[in-house]
Amino acid sequence: MLYDLIVIGGGPTGMMAAGRAGERGARVLLVERNPRLGAKLTITGKGRCNITNAEPDIRKFIAHYGQNGKFLFSAMSRFDNENTREFFEGRGVKTKVERGQRVFPESDQARDINDALLDYLRESKVIIKTKATVAEVVSKNKRIEKIILSNGEGLQAKNYLIATGGQSYPGTGSKGDAYQWLRQMDHKIIPIRPALAPIILKEDWIDELEGLSLKNVEISLWQNGKKVESRFGEALFTHEGMSGPVILDMSKRAGELVAQGAVTLVIDFKPALGEKILDERLQKDFTAQSNKMFKNILDWLLPKKMIPMMVRISGIAGEKKVHTMTRAERQKLLKLLKSFPLEIKAVAGFETAIVTAGGVDLREVDPKTMKSRIIDNLFLAGEILNLDGPTGGFNLQVCWSTGFVAGESI
Ligand SMILES: Cc1cc2nc3c(=O)[nH]c(=O)nc-3n(C[C@H](O)[C@H](O)[C@H](O)COP(=O)(O)OP(=O)(O)OC[C@H]3O[C@@H](n4cnc5c(N)ncnc54)[C@H](O)[C@@H]3O)c2cc1C
Repeated sequence: MLYDLIVIGGGPTGMMAAGRAGERGARVLLVERNPRLGAKLTITGKGRCNITNAEPDIRKFIAHYGQNGKFLFSAMSRFDNENTREFFEGRGVKTKVERGQRVFPESDQARDINDALLDYLRESKVIIKTKATVAEVVSKNKRIEKIILSNGEGLQAKNYLIATGGQSYPGTGSKGDAYQWLRQMDHKIIPIRPALAPIILKEDWIDELEGLSLKNVEISLWQNGKKVESRFGEALFTHEGMSGPVILDMSKRAGELVAQGAVTLVIDFKPALGEKILDERLQKDFTAQSNKMFKNILDWLLPKKMIPMMVRISGIAGEKKVHTMTRAERQKLLKLLKSFPLEIKAVAGFETAIVTAGGVDLREVDPKTMKSRIIDNLFLAGEILNLDGPTGGFNLQVCWSTGFVAGESI
C-alpha cells in the first residue's frame, strides 16, 4: 500500500494532522476539493485569523465548549493553546494577544498561518492532491477499503482521517459531505445546526445602519417580558440585522428562543452608566447646550451613524431646541439609550454561520487518539465532531488539538 494515511480535507485540522503524521514518518496523502488548501482558514477572523485563546487555565478554557468540552481534555494535554502559539512562532509567525485573550498573528494576516501550515506539509513530505473531491467512501467489515473521487479515481491507504469540517460557509468547500458517509458506516451524527450565526432583524430600516460597529455595549435577549441572556462587548450592523462577537455568541440561544415565540434584542448603549446617573448627565448637558438642536447634542452618546436613527425612533423632532424639550422627551431618549429594542426575525443559516453545531457523536471517538470506535482504520478530527465553542479562537483550537493528536496517533 502506497500510503499509511489519506487525510480528506485540507482545512486547519487536515493540515495539522497530515503534517504531524508525516513528521512522524507516515506516508501521507492529503485530498482537498478546492484548488488550494485552507480556503476557510484564510478568511477567519476577518482575514486576521484568531488562532486560539490565551486563557491559561485549561479547565476554564474547556468550560467554553459546554458539556462536550471534556472530550478535549486529553487532546489539549498533548497540544494546547500554548503549543499552538509555539507551533506558529516556531515557524516564524509572531503572535499577539488582544482583548478577551484572543490570539492573532502579529501581522494580522491569516495567510501567514496558512503559509506556515503549507511549509509544515512540505517539510513533512505530505503529498497534496487538490481539485480532488471525495465522492464516496467504500467500507466493508468495519474497515474503509478505499475512497472514490468524483472523477472515478479510487485511492487506498491503511488509515483514513475525515477532516472535512462542518456545513457552514459551504462556499469554502465545507459542504457537509461526510455526514452521509459516516451515517452509512453506522456512526451516529448529532443533528447539525448553524452556530455563531448573524441575527436577522424585522426592522425594515436596518440596512441603513449596515457597517456600523458598536463597542462596549450590552445586548440582551428578551422573551415574554423577561431578560433571558445578556452580553457585553462588540457588535456590528449588517444589511439585514446584526453580527459581531456578542451577537454570534448569543445566536445559539436566540435560535432556541425564536422557535418558542417572539424575541426582542435590546441594546444598552451606555452599560457603564445607571439610568439615574445617565439622566443627571443628560440634564446637565441639556442645560449647557440649551440652544442647540436635539440632533446635534447626541455625539457623545452615540456613534454618528446611529444618531439619525435614534432621532427618528424617538419621535422627537431633530430640529427641536434642547431647552424646549419636555421631561417626558428626555425620559424617552434615556429609555432608548438604555434599552433600544429590535425584533428578531430569525437566526441566519449555514450560509453565513461561523461554525456547525452537532456532528459525530463524541462517544464514538476515542479522545486519546481521535480513532473511530466504529470503523477500525478511521480517524475523525476538527469541526466534523460534535464540538463547538464561542468566538475568541476556541473553534480553531479544536482543529489544532484534535488534528495534532490524530496525526500523531496514526
Ligand atoms: C468567516 C469565518 C470566520 C471564522 N473565524 C474564526 C476565528 O477567527 N477563530 C476561530 O477559532 N474559528 C473561526 N472560524 C471557524 C473555523 O474556521 C472552523 O472551525 C475551522 O475552519 C474548521 O476546520 P476544519 O479543518 O475542521 O474544517 P474546514 O476548515 O471546514 O476544512 C475542511 C476542508 O475539507 C474540504 N472538503 C470537504 N468535503 C470534501 C470532499 N468531499 N472532498 C475533498 N475535500 C473536502 C473542504 O473543501 C475544506 O477545505 C471561522 C469560520 C468562518 C466561516
